[in-house]
Amino acid sequence: MSFVREDFETSPYVDKVFEIRKKAESDNNPDSINATIGSLKDENSKLYVFSSVYRIYDSLPDEVKAAYSSAIKGNPDFLQTVINWVDNGLLNLEKDAIATPGGTGAIDLAINCCLKPGDNILIPEIGWGSYSLMAKENHLNAYTYPLFDGDKFAIEELKKLCKELISKNNKLFFIINDPCQNPTGYSLTHQEWQELIDFFNELSKEGEIIILDDIAYIDFAKEDSRSYFKLFNQLNEKILFLVAFSASKTLSAYGMRLGALLSYNKNKENIDDFTNACVRFARCTWSNSNNGFMHCFNKLFTEHQEEYLKERAEAVSLIAERAEIFLKEAKEVDLPIYPYKDGYFVTVKIEKDKINAYQEALIRNSIYAVPVNKGIRIALCSLNKEKTKGLAKKLKEVLDEIA
Ligand code: PLP
Repeated sequence: MSFVREDFETSPYVDKVFEIRKKAESDNNPDSINATIGSLKDENSKLYVFSSVYRIYDSLPDEVKAAYSSAIKGNPDFLQTVINWVDNGLLNLEKDAIATPGGTGAIDLAINCCLKPGDNILIPEIGWGSYSLMAKENHLNAYTYPLFDGDKFAIEELKKLCKELISKNNKLFFIINDPCQNPTGYSLTHQEWQELIDFFNELSKEGEIIILDDIAYIDFAKEDSRSYFKLFNQLNEKILFLVAFSASKTLSAYGMRLGALLSYNKNKENIDDFTNACVRFARCTWSNSNNGFMHCFNKLFTEHQEEYLKERAEAVSLIAERAEIFLKEAKEVDLPIYPYKDGYFVTVKIEKDKINAYQEALIRNSIYAVPVNKGIRIALCSLNKEKTKGLAKKLKEVLDEIA
């Protein structure tokens, strides 16, 4: 007998990332490599902490940290600041935002407010594992789009799938995690975005379209992370553009559980309807987001942005240096990787049926990394330069062993 509703899974949830991370942490070999952790670490392998953030947070009165937020939607000054920070005034459509517990909360909120059990959702084939879990738990039919055709973004295949899906029930819900995609580190070019926007405008004659851009890693792009947003001003009224923002990554503050879901459309009524639905959903699930951290976020970006930008620039250069070492060596030893531009992760290309054997062989060599669809993810964000040096060669040697 189980008291759980029968359409819910009752087997224990095993998180791939946490499992392999536990194994890595119990390996006593001093040369072991733990490339599993998706959090930013410094060169001493300590969690990267922006002092500009905690100087403000620690200065807040305890009553502020302890209090509920001033509205279920989120504190109004935080919402305005997060919109300004995310779109930098580049989007002049009607817009709104709601505070969420992390980027995860934003994505789950979007899914719940737009889709009902039995609906379809289009997610990346090589992507963050939680998308497919959310689809499953919400009883959605998940379809996946391939990311690459050779080393290029597989735009034609994506268009084909979008056409197929919209013809099923006149609705398309499409998730993309761009820029600095997890796990490949790819970012779409402006041309690719422009081609997609033209395509969606045309496709919207057949039904409603929701584009959810999960921008979790946007603040770790080396340059020009925002200008592609300008292109979205061309979207017509039948397309809702949603942006899931994660303060976990932007502020390297994963445990604070703050994020936001931003919505954009030509028509204000559509935005108001969507926001009202979101507020109702939030009220019934997490109710409030972290009040103290919303205050901290607001103060940081309205009064101390320069200090934060300086600290963040250092973090971005650090990841870029690690990436440069890895990519150069990968090229030298001919290690197959997916096209990487920016961000926390790079992924070794490997056929699906060889992933388990590869991972086991890596573990025998004290190398720990997370298997993803069609690859093994290397978290550059948490590997110091010393550990990064020589890693591509080791990965290639183990790959050759199992070939
Ligand atoms: N999106 C992607 C692609 C992620 O990798 C993550 C975290 O790992 C998130 C969203 C959400 O993170 P959080 O809920 O901590 O903001």
